[in-house]
Amino acid sequence: MEKKKVVIIGSGPAGYTAAIYAARANLEPLLYEGFFSGPSGGQLMTTTEVENFPGFPEGITGPDLMQNFRKQALRFGTSILTEDVIDVDFSTHPFTVKGHNSSYQALSVIIATGATANRLDIPGAREGEFWQKGVTACAVCDGAMPIFRNRPLFVIGGGDSAVEEAVFLTKFGSKVYLVHRRDKLRASKIMQQRALSHPKIEVLWDSEITKIEGDSVVRNVIVKNLKTDNETKHEAGGVFFAVGHTPNTAFMRNQIDLHDNGYIKVKPGTCQTNIDLVYAAGDAQDHVYRQAISAAGTGCMAAIEAERELSARGLVA
Ligand SMILES: Cc1cc2nc3c(=O)[nH]c(=O)nc-3n(C[C@H](O)[C@H](O)[C@H](O)COP(=O)(O)OP(=O)(O)OC[C@H]3O[C@@H](n4cnc5c(N)ncnc54)[C@H](O)[C@@H]3O)c2cc1C
Repeated sequence: MEKKKVVIIGSGPAGYTAAIYAARANLEPLLYEGFFSGPSGGQLMTTTEVENFPGFPEGITGPDLMQNFRKQALRFGTSILTEDVIDVDFSTHPFTVKGHNSSYQALSVIIATGATANRLDIPGAREGEFWQKGVTACAVCDGAMPIFRNRPLFVIGGGDSAVEEAVFLTKFGSKVYLVHRRDKLRASKIMQQRALSHPKIEVLWDSEITKIEGDSVVRNVIVKNLKTDNETKHEAGGVFFAVGHTPNTAFMRNQIDLHDNGYIKVKPGTCQTNIDLVYAAGDAQDHVYRQAISAAGTGCMAAIEAERELSARGLVA
């Protein structure tokens, strides 16, 4: 089996940044960009404008940004395989990384498989309907866009992140409705207070959105009260899913320490997992910030940590 100095799993901002740094450090990285796991380029391939990635004062589309990441990784000699990793063995060193059609030994591995924002299958919210035309899964990323300004906005969820997103959106929307299926929020007490006492937030208890309507963008939502079955139509400028994320870590569950919610455990302030020479970067290990720039930042950290440790152990020249 061919041996690689660094194998990177994942092709979002974290994976490509790790590849750029590893390639420039002569580690000749091999990067699995995925296939069935989602589009090469990661979550930003599903968005239109990215307005908060530094270096692009006019904004850039998600796909263009990720094409640039990919080109830059290739420019310095990264090898890219369009395959998913289906299994890893970290019990012996060199490690084994197995894709659908390939297997490699690896002196070090950087896991950058990201996470998937959970979405609900509501009529009107699907691709080709109003997804990315007023329906999104990231308030911090998209909330400041002109289409949401001074319009009534709807956040679906009841946990801490739903409340955080609702409070964040009060800066832009005329009013923010938090739509929750139950009669109590799951969010922590302090977050609940912030939502319940906010003059611009109204919680729609025991409710769900059953339909999203509009023309070129979202214009209305139909909200159903689950206790009475009563449906009401509300004017809407946007719908934000805040129903959690699922880290893409299932295939390594028995190989590495994960938090209960599936995110990879790293030593604080580093990308080091519980296995020496195995690093985790980006959303797969971050359930707090979940931004392209923070993912890229940890991708850089992981590659530098790998290079230093491989050199310290005399595994690379
Ligand atoms: C709709 C939307 C809009 C967003 N807008 C913004 C924004 O404007 N600004 C911002 O900063 N952030 C934004 N984000 C968040 C941002 O996209 C993420 O924080 C960032 O992409 C995380 O990068 P990552 O590299 O950790 O993982 P991801 O982008 O999730 O990429 C992971 C990659 O790994 C691949 N992969 C997974 N499993 C495997 C496997 N087994 N083998 C091989 N490959 C695998 C996946 O296919 C994917 O390509 C947005 C997110 C969403 C969903």
